[in-house]
Amino acid sequence: MKIGILGLQGAFFKHQQMLNSLDCENFIVRYPEEINQCKALILPGGESTTITKLIDRIGMRQQLINFNGPIFGTCAGAILLSETCDDERVKVFGKIPVNGFRNAYGRQIESFKKEIKLSFSDKKFPAIFIRAPKFSLINSEIEVLSEFENIPVLLKYKNILISAFHPELTKDLRIHKYFIELVEKS
Ligand code: GLN
Repeated sequence: MKIGILGLQGAFFKHQQMLNSLDCENFIVRYPEEINQCKALILPGGESTTITKLIDRIGMRQQLINFNGPIFGTCAGAILLSETCDDERVKVFGKIPVNGFRNAYGRQIESFKKEIKLSFSDKKFPAIFIRAPKFSLINSEIEVLSEFENIPVLLKYKNILISAFHPELTKDLRIHKYFIELVEKS
């Protein structure tokens, strides 16, 4: 069983490069029946409205609802995993008890890179925020693994990991490594 990277839209190839660099078996998921062949999933960044439409167009919603393995969602992928989203065009999966707010740092031009502290590593991480969402927690069991300006940007709840930023656009493998360890433990 491999890690499946949802390849409907967005930055999925970059995630594949990260997993390849870590010698982690993976494949790009494009069809509903492939979800059952995955031990874990990555939902990439992109446009959460577009990914919502594509999931429904190819009939993948039910497989994603039923999927119980670990999932890592980055940016748009993180919004899709939230309990709610402020944009009703996004149909969320409610896998992590947070409220998601799209484009909460502003437009494309307000995208930025910031060194952030990770709870599981000494060295800071170069986080790239692109039309990033913000998340508010609605459950105290969520682990905040990183914050930026007092807002949580890397969160873990059970076997779900979400980031408001794009670790796959850096050369820093630490967050993908952390996810692979989570997959191995589960
Ligand atoms: N703003 C996008 C959305 O709401 C997410 C941006 C991203 O994934 N980089 O879907």
